[in-house]
Amino acid sequence: MTLRVGLSGGIGSGKSTVSAQLASLGAVVVDADTVAREVVGPGTPGLAQIADRFGPDVIAADGSLDRPALGQVVFGDARARRDLEGITHPLIRRRSQELFESAPDDAVVVHDVPLLVELGMGADYALTVIVDVPEEERLRRLVELRGMDEEAARSRIRAQADDEQRRAAADVLLDNAGTLDDLHARVNDLWSGRIVPFRDHLADGIPGSAAPGAARAGEGERLRARVEAALGRPLGEGVDPDILDEPAARHGLHRRGLLVLTGDGQAGVDGRASGASDEVVIASADPASAARLRLRVG
Ligand code: ATP
Repeated sequence: MTLRVGLSGGIGSGKSTVSAQLASLGAVVVDADTVAREVVGPGTPGLAQIADRFGPDVIAADGSLDRPALGQVVFGDARARRDLEGITHPLIRRRSQELFESAPDDAVVVHDVPLLVELGMGADYALTVIVDVPEEERLRRLVELRGMDEEAARSRIRAQADDEQRRAAADVLLDNAGTLDDLHARVNDLWSGRIVPFRDHLADGIPGSAAPGAARAGEGERLRARVEAALGRPLGEGVDPDILDEPAARHGLHRRGLLVLTGDGQAGVDGRASGASDEVVIASADPASAARLRLRVG
């Protein structure tokens, strides 16, 4: 099964630079912006639905979506925006899913999602990587390297999550305040020292065994959020043991890089804790993780 990695960072942080390098190292990159454009491309059912709802004025002469015109229509109109999202979000979800599933079985799939944190998607991945650059440096790069207007860049930055919110969602904080060479070296290390072993350990059922305290702050919370997302319900006091046997739950845990361990700390043969134990232990196969989530069953 593929290892699914979420990649994000503020505007101008270096996401595209990182995803291009990960692609050259062998990852399958799914770019959320590209998918979002594709599902409303000329001649698509998505574009037809938009024309039905918002009228012919939002279609340009060449048959493509007239984004500025559509922007005008939905700007400040919450209902119109909801309708638009009601059309695009399911199409984006379905197409992304198709791309994830068409990747080879042993692939690392990197999902580059600019608004990953804003959309609360961190728990959907086995590993969430955030490219981290202080705001002022991002601003400088956007203005000096991209030629963006400073005020426009500031307002784009303000409209996004702040650096603290992004850091809380990160399993990996990829520091890109230094040079491009520094970044390249970090991405190489991340790939060979963590992502590839993570994929292999997940396939082999080997849980992370980092020293407690070695992982980033908040690891326990992120593990819990992943388990809740996988099981599709809050954990509360414990779980019904049958839930863990449901294929959807097993699949949900696995795709988040999680293993259900037996009492001796190894992955259960059938994915469940063996023996008469009244608890199961869930851990990530991320080699840099140390957290264990103990759940009472029954
Ligand atoms: P956006 O949010 O607009 O999609 P992004 O997060 O994908 O941006 P990039 O396009 O990768 O960011 O990088 C933004 C700009 O900063 C690019 O011009 C890139 O070449 C440059 N850049 C990235 N990292 C560094 C670095 N460490 N030093 C100098 N420039 C950098």
